[in-house]
Amino acid sequence: MKYIFVTGGVVSSLGKGLAAASIGALLEHRGLKTLMQKFDPYLNVDPGTMSPYQHGEVYVLDDGAETDLDLGHYERFTSGVLSKMNNLTSGQVFDAVIKKERRGEYLGKTVQFIPHVTDEIKCRLHKVTGDNPDVDVLITEIGGTVGDMEGLLFIEALRQFALEVGKENVCFIHVTLLPFIKAAGEVKTKPTQQSVAKLRELGIQPDIVICRTEADLDEDNRKKIAMFCNVEKKNVVAFRDVAHTIYECPLDLRRDKIDRLVVDKIGLGHTPAPALDDWETFVRRVIHPKHKITIAVAGKYIELQDAYKSIYESLIHAGAHHDTKVNIVRVEAEAIEQHGAKAVIGDVDGILVPGGFGDRGIEGKILAAQYARESGIPYFGICLGMQIATIEFARNVCKLRDANSTEFDKNTPFPVICLQEEQKGVQDMGATMRLGSSESIVFAGTKAADLYGGASHIQERHRHRYEFNSDFQDRIQEGGLVISSVSAKEGLVEIIELPDHPFYVGAQFHPEFQSKPNKPHPLFAGFVKAALDRSQSH
Ligand code: GLN
Repeated sequence: MKYIFVTGGVVSSLGKGLAAASIGALLEHRGLKTLMQKFDPYLNVDPGTMSPYQHGEVYVLDDGAETDLDLGHYERFTSGVLSKMNNLTSGQVFDAVIKKERRGEYLGKTVQFIPHVTDEIKCRLHKVTGDNPDVDVLITEIGGTVGDMEGLLFIEALRQFALEVGKENVCFIHVTLLPFIKAAGEVKTKPTQQSVAKLRELGIQPDIVICRTEADLDEDNRKKIAMFCNVEKKNVVAFRDVAHTIYECPLDLRRDKIDRLVVDKIGLGHTPAPALDDWETFVRRVIHPKHKITIAVAGKYIELQDAYKSIYESLIHAGAHHDTKVNIVRVEAEAIEQHGAKAVIGDVDGILVPGGFGDRGIEGKILAAQYARESGIPYFGICLGMQIATIEFARNVCKLRDANSTEFDKNTPFPVICLQEEQKGVQDMGATMRLGSSESIVFAGTKAADLYGGASHIQERHRHRYEFNSDFQDRIQEGGLVISSVSAKEGLVEIIELPDHPFYVGAQFHPEFQSKPNKPHPLFAGFVKAALDRSQSH
């Protein structure tokens, strides 16, 4: 087993996760079986309880793990199957250590940061590779910035681990920033030098330094970084700002042969250079599409880049599939409440209402769904967006006045969306939702069945507490809404659709967690196609 550890320096938001995912993609294209993992130094057990303002999107895995959004990049860039084991937080580490201590497993010893906490971290590296013995390379990204107090134990654990498994099996990559100082007209290497010095103080000499830079990296600066950081010049790699799409990142890193440097370091130099034709074709399709559509995304964290990350990526995948650029207009749901849907959204080719929690902006989203339904604009509701469509239909078509979800109105006369029985006693907020992948049945003859290529059973990932209330199923179906999929086990409503509308689909699950470049999710592909048809008929 070979190991790559990716640390970051100088500042956060450098694209460390994308760098790690890109390396994963390149190694996979060299024929290596790659698995990716993230260590996050914060104390939350997982990001499931964090606000999108803190953390961006919570990415859900098949096994129901609520994880960092970098795992989304990993799944989109590589094919390794990720689980709870692939995202470790300080919260989990300390939780495990304290539980062991309470069980008396430390046999009377004083429990200490070193070795007990660092052992727990190393244990996760062994566990994830033990569970996946056919993997050739494990890539572990360490969240945060080197020098942060909270990351120290992770760095120390990696230092020990490299000694234990043999340094020839480990490649340390440090991602830093080369700021461009406008007034001086110069790229500065000092922050990189100091950040690597910090890492070396902690006992780790990086093998490769990846420098994030707006412009190119010239020879002089490469030499300077090599000398001060104690790495060979060829191992100073530029990671330039990409012009169009994050899917250019592996191609950019490849310019300095990052994958060759890595395999040479860990003794896998015999693997062939990556054949990247499929990746390049995809990138070309993203950059030079024939068509263009406009999709409005009506949500409540619209100003945040990362809050609906996987949805935006899924639209790009589906767009590339249809040779179409998807122009996304981010609409603040509360603005719709004030000014009306038509005024705020205007004439777009599609409207998407993403997942969400809490009642801010709910009425605006309901107006958006009504506007899409009444004016024949393709509508795609995801999780909360599906519940919104149900509420809107109940109120305005079935005339169930003030119908609502009990999440937003406990006393609604028509709780068309409500808590499942087993959710009612739940007290803890963390990891208690309906989470992860489960099987659903898709009914023949529906649009959903069509989109899924006639499949009668599908597997999709969930993250929600509230459900379509089966007490209202008959009344809502009589109104004309079609239930096209239900969960195999409990019969819970999974997909709703309107038959006499170009595309009006709501999914209780999160299709955005299963879309990949060159493999768009069928519901996103269908939505984009419907939007494209609309734009072309106008
Ligand atoms: N708030 C809703 C629920 O808990 C929807 C959740 C979501 O969109 N992820 O059911």
